[in-house]
Amino acid sequence: MKKDAGTRRHGDAEKERDVDDPNSSLSASPHHRVSASPSFSVPESVPILPGSTVGVLGSGQLGRMFAIAARQMGYRVHTFSPDSDTPTGQVADLEVEASYDDLDAVRKFARGVSVVTFEFENVPAATAAAAAECTLVRPGGTVLHTTQHRLREKTFLSDNGFPVTPFRAIRSIEDVRSAVKDLGCPAVLKTASFGYDGKGQNTIRCLAEAEAVWKTGGEFERVYEAFVDFEREVSVVAARGIDRSFAHWGVIDNTHRNHILDVSVSPADVPPDVEIEAINITRGILESLDVIGVLCVEFFLTRSGQLLVNELAPRPHNSGHLTIDSHVTSQFEQQLRAICGLPLGSTEQLRPAAMANLLGDLWGKGDPNWAAACAMPEVRLHLYGKAEPRAGRKMGHLTALAQTPADAAWIVRAARDALVR
Ligand code: AMP
Repeated sequence: MKKDAGTRRHGDAEKERDVDDPNSSLSASPHHRVSASPSFSVPESVPILPGSTVGVLGSGQLGRMFAIAARQMGYRVHTFSPDSDTPTGQVADLEVEASYDDLDAVRKFARGVSVVTFEFENVPAATAAAAAECTLVRPGGTVLHTTQHRLREKTFLSDNGFPVTPFRAIRSIEDVRSAVKDLGCPAVLKTASFGYDGKGQNTIRCLAEAEAVWKTGGEFERVYEAFVDFEREVSVVAARGIDRSFAHWGVIDNTHRNHILDVSVSPADVPPDVEIEAINITRGILESLDVIGVLCVEFFLTRSGQLLVNELAPRPHNSGHLTIDSHVTSQFEQQLRAICGLPLGSTEQLRPAAMANLLGDLWGKGDPNWAAACAMPEVRLHLYGKAEPRAGRKMGHLTALAQTPADAAWIVRAARDALVR
């Protein structure tokens, strides 16, 4: 931080299918500690009520939308990251600027809040553990540990019977050769850690290409995955409360451009049996990982109608941003409810919706024409407060509501086109 000086205070600053209550009361709920010997003594079953302070590790747009939901419900929000004037910090009560490795600063931050959550999964394990010494951390460190490493995540999924594309662990050139022999080409070689939005990923067409990536791209631990000739990509965003209730927002259709999510449409146009299976798999994953909070499962849907889990995000997800405008309870409010031990809200959908990401590339010819998008009454604009519009950087998104998902998708693309016309 500007150590202590690095703090900035603001303002003083289904469809009832979606929520099912297993008839267990909050006070009777199971306790899942994240640390073996926490030095605090608040029972985990006591709800954290409005007026309390919640902490967010990370300070990007996900933290911002979470903070807006939390402040709307009367909570105070503190955020912690190595940066200042961040998307989350701009709307939080307090922005702490410090390194994730500064564990004393992490502990001090954690002591100032009733619960800590995170807005990206690459928070170092030691950071989450230091926070857990001082307060509740939700979801717990195990969820983070499993999902921040592709190999651990894929191994967890396949060991628990969830469908994934065949994969091999790569730790040496010999592993590269036997993976190519076993799984063939094409395939995708991914770094095991710190990969997202296609970063750290290479498509492999032959053994020589795989060997070259290993030799020249750095000898990091990797995952070699059989290429999936998918028909489309879909996701299910879901939440699990401390009373083990489960809520989801149905299946969302996702189109990517350059490996980055481009447009999401809800509900996805998939057969009912695919929808049921996707939701059942998602529920199974949240239960197996004992998640308290929101988690997104990203799937490939193959041409033969098979669902394969691509990856997990243990937090609100880009494909769920449209829930802010189109559902009774957004993914961000649900995250807040879950981590605070409140009952989950209804995820009933009010209107079909589509979301289009606004990347920094849109600023190529100057500021986008915001008035043109705002002239379309069914379109809502969300900007994340980022000053520098770099290519590929997520600066904001648009949501369109319409009579049908296809209409919403058409409108949201038209609105985005209007920004640069
Ligand atoms: P990821 O970072 O794993 O989410 O991958 C980013 C994107 O790369 C995915 O959304 C897919 O479009 C593509 N991709 C990743 N893995 C595979 C695979 N095994 N087969 C085909 N395409 C993939």
